[in-house]
Amino acid sequence: MFQRSHLGVAAAAAAVTTIASTAAGPWAADTLLITGGRVLAAEGDRWLEGHAVLIADGRIEKVASLKTIDVHPELLHIDLDGGYLVPGLIDLHTHLMLHPYDEASWAEQVLKESLGLRTARAVAAAKRTLEAGFTTIRELGTEGAGYADVGLRDAVAGGIVPGPTILTATRALVASGAYGPAGFDPRWAIPKGAQVVDGPDAVRRAVREQIAAGADWIKVYADYRRRPGVPATPTFSPAELEAAVDEARSAGLGVSAHATTDEGIRRAVEAGVRTIEHGTDASAETLALMRNRGVTLCPTLAAAEAIARYQGWAPPDPQPERLRRAMAMFQRALAAGVRIACGSDAGVFAHGDNARELELMVAGGMTATEALRSATAVAAEVIGKEENLGRIAPGFTADLVAVSGDPLLDIAALSRPIVVIKHGHVVVDRRAIPAQETRAELLAVCQRVFETLAEGRIDDLKELFLPEAVVTFELRSTDKQISIGVEQFLERARGQYGPDSSFREWISGKPTVLVDGAIAVVWAPFLLKSAGLWATGTDVFGFLKTDGHWRISSLSFTNRPI
Ligand SMILES: [Zn+2]
Repeated sequence: MFQRSHLGVAAAAAAVTTIASTAAGPWAADTLLITGGRVLAAEGDRWLEGHAVLIADGRIEKVASLKTIDVHPELLHIDLDGGYLVPGLIDLHTHLMLHPYDEASWAEQVLKESLGLRTARAVAAAKRTLEAGFTTIRELGTEGAGYADVGLRDAVAGGIVPGPTILTATRALVASGAYGPAGFDPRWAIPKGAQVVDGPDAVRRAVREQIAAGADWIKVYADYRRRPGVPATPTFSPAELEAAVDEARSAGLGVSAHATTDEGIRRAVEAGVRTIEHGTDASAETLALMRNRGVTLCPTLAAAEAIARYQGWAPPDPQPERLRRAMAMFQRALAAGVRIACGSDAGVFAHGDNARELELMVAGGMTATEALRSATAVAAEVIGKEENLGRIAPGFTADLVAVSGDPLLDIAALSRPIVVIKHGHVVVDRRAIPAQETRAELLAVCQRVFETLAEGRIDDLKELFLPEAVVTFELRSTDKQISIGVEQFLERARGQYGPDSSFREWISGKPTVLVDGAIAVVWAPFLLKSAGLWATGTDVFGFLKTDGHWRISSLSFTNRPI
């Protein structure tokens, strides 16, 4: 029986190190060079071919032909291999403190989930959001979780937990008798999911409190249901909305208004809010007013779709009323020339699925170019960061996302980022993670090695290896590590295995497969019983792809009795 023992690795281990370092992230490097991709032009409407992006100290330093860039050997380098590089995405309407309503209803989350649990969930949600390519978000209300968004924002900014850059709206403002949780007997004073205020003075005081506590934006609910089951009506008076806008403006903050009724939207726009959230029943006149005042709409189509799904709707059934109204409003706003930014209301649905909003905008008639702009340059302008975010241009913050498909042709390509860079640091690099088919193909070759060996079909084994392949292992008898050519390995194996052989090995545990272009490594831990004894070890297969086939370029293994 062929004794297997101890790991001796050469080329395969070197390949793992190289690939693993790109897969781990974040890199702490100050400079980074991105090549081999198509770079979205600063205007956001076309691709720059043959351009490289040089990043230094978290900013984009150069977008130019590689020939004009002075390449230092120690520069960290990412080859996008034909991918598409776009600015980091921005979602102007998220709720990290909420999780999908089909997991727990909004009221259940607000009333029953502890602040600690909600904050912990928000930490995980922030990571997922960033990994989905959203490098900046505007958190529009903690829904009863107080000022937890401020702490999370600061933890992300301080590098304590991963996440996008967060703009906070803290508690949000609602009028008495509106908002939820609702539907209780009037004897009970049930806390609301936002700060309750009445009258311009109280509104002004609450805005001051929220700003002092760390708000970057002020959110008001300009209309809402007064009790369950009735339609929404305007709540805050024009004077109350004006007080909110005036006080926020004094501190240099913008106001965002949740508004679904025509009257609520109009009051908010006239009071000077910067964004309208949802906007469902905006009339043609109100949409014209929004356009003329430069007020931006966050349509939250993805939330409308998610709620329809939670109520049992699924395509191809006709869209339910609520979703139809949201899509119809979006089309009217688009036709009216209202500025539209990506605001998804993630939290109603899963964090990380934010790009669904852009797909629905395109389904509603927006071009893919405009949809991408709504989550980049347009959104950056809304938050006053048009000189820093939303474009790939020198001087801009190095927030970047690479995808493998062309998002100007198919916006859905944005839902699968392969690389995410925030402030010049690589936070996601999925280039080395193989497609399922490649993984299956590689594991099938490994499996064939074991089967063919076990059955003593040594000649069949040969075709799985490259002629120059090397096999490395340790001789049990001498404790010496040896490396031999594949021919020699097969000679040793010949006669050792056959129909009566007790040798039988299967990949067990979880094999790790890394692929980088035409090079792959399979790291396969195993548990083996032979001659009545258990042994454990690891097979490391190095692969090269030649003429469309993966063949083994190196094999090394360990084997220890247990
Ligand atoms: Zn919301």
